[in-house]
Amino acid sequence: MSLAEIKVKIAKAEEKAGRVPSSTHLIAVSKKQPNERVEAVLEQGHRLFGENRVQEAAAKWPAFKDRFPDTSVHLIGPLQTNKARQAMEQCDAIHSVDRPKLAQTLARLAQELGHCPDLFIQVNTGEEDQKAGVIPTETDDFIKKCQRLDLPVVGLMCIPPVDEEPSLHFALLAKIAARNGLTGLSMGMSGDFERAIAQGATHIRVGSAIFGERPAPAAT
Ligand SMILES: *Cc1c(COP(=O)(O)O)cnc(C)c1O
Repeated sequence: MSLAEIKVKIAKAEEKAGRVPSSTHLIAVSKKQPNERVEAVLEQGHRLFGENRVQEAAAKWPAFKDRFPDTSVHLIGPLQTNKARQAMEQCDAIHSVDRPKLAQTLARLAQELGHCPDLFIQVNTGEEDQKAGVIPTETDDFIKKCQRLDLPVVGLMCIPPVDEEPSLHFALLAKIAARNGLTGLSMGMSGDFERAIAQGATHIRVGSAIFGERPAPAAT
């Protein structure tokens, strides 16, 4: 699918859901994609991207940002505390805040650096052992904890279980956000972004539908 085709699908999904046009931010997930493909999307005027690893973001984006200065890069993957400083320096938003130790580290660094990216709290809506995120019953407390640390929490993020209807998870995330007064909803990927928009997504994270399949790592 081209970027233009995806934008048409987003507009249709917004209209169908009775939402304000262009109220969904499209994060083009450029992780593991060759630079030529990323550059092609930048050349088409797109300026919001997602990476799931801090090191990859740090290696790829400073040079692109020199050429396309109004670009934003959001970290959408898990963040280790020892990479938090680099993440705060490289990224304009972090979608994977999921534990007190990370929140405390971000708060300390925010004081030191004098700024903090927008933060989304990742919720493990499917309560899957292998997945990061706060479980739903602990989310209200964790949001309050982050707010007491003066962290700029703008919303919630989820990655639904692969074998379940994502709409149920999107609806749960929207419900938790609403009762906590949060407006940001980072949810929906290549296969389900229209359903996420129907449930109120403000940020969809779309990779392969824009760039094509991520190349397999070279055999070693
Ligand atoms: C890779 C990734 C995406 C994008 O996945 P696609 O299926 O390629 O659209 C979205 N969110 C997260 C957290 C990811 O790691």
